[in-house]
Amino acid sequence: MEVIEKIALMQEVSEKWRGDGNIISLVPTMGFLHQGHIELLRVGRQKGDRLIMSIFVNPIQFGPQEDYETYPRDAEGDLNKARSAGVDAVFMPTVKEMYPDGFQSTVRVEEITKYLCGKSRPGHFDGVTTVVAKLFSTTKPHLAIFGQKDYQQLVVIKRMVRDLNMDTGIIGVPTVREADGLAISSRNSYLSPEERSSALSLKKGLGLAKAMVAEGEKDPVKIKNAVRELILSHPFTEIDYITICDPEKLADIEIIDGPCLLALAVRVGKARLIDNAIVREN
Ligand code: AMP
Repeated sequence: MEVIEKIALMQEVSEKWRGDGNIISLVPTMGFLHQGHIELLRVGRQKGDRLIMSIFVNPIQFGPQEDYETYPRDAEGDLNKARSAGVDAVFMPTVKEMYPDGFQSTVRVEEITKYLCGKSRPGHFDGVTTVVAKLFSTTKPHLAIFGQKDYQQLVVIKRMVRDLNMDTGIIGVPTVREADGLAISSRNSYLSPEERSSALSLKKGLGLAKAMVAEGEKDPVKIKNAVRELILSHPFTEIDYITICDPEKLADIEIIDGPCLLALAVRVGKARLIDNAIVREN
């Protein structure tokens, strides 16, 4: 497995692999790998001939009050896991390598970044699309694999690829959960045992919403209120948002009569956790 820190070398390696006729898969991550990332790597390994994983905690997607400095990091553990998962190259640049002095470009997707996490994390998706565009031009992937756990991120990246005619196929992978339903996240490491129990309320909320829709409830407000009440009945929880929206446009819906997504962000202690589910398929 190659470990590459320089953009120029990564481009050279990818170019060579492409020239030899290989399909390149990319799994972008911020490291501190868990089973969710491993599942993305499995899919990438299966769909491509050469598998690249990037590890980069991207400062420009964090707000000033967010956890950039304290975001969990474990380079050595990550490299061991990457090796076991059959990664061919880990691209692990420094911040200076990605954003040298004089850097001043942004890739922005306009509409769909205004909702959900875009509301509470201004500038976050600009940071995401800018870094993903840079990762694509560096690793030159035929395919890139993203998790549905970050549902809005997946939709935003698909939009960027379409709008900018990027030559990379985007694959979404279902959320990997712990046995009790908690969506796996690097930020779960912030949770105390008591907070972790409360964090289960996110998944319970999604279940409640699905059940209400299945029983014929069509009013998103009633469902959101019930989910809010359920989550707030658990200690340490503070709701950032609960949204029922169109799964593609991400705009709120007034009545549930077609496909819809419930997405939520909840602070549990100092962890800001997100989860989502399609509560009605069609
Ligand atoms: P991160 O390192 O948190 O930026 O995540 C890197 C990639 O892994 C993103 O595409 C995430 O959506 C994906 N991911 C994170 N957690 C999970 C999970 N529990 N299941 C599936 N994919 C995940």
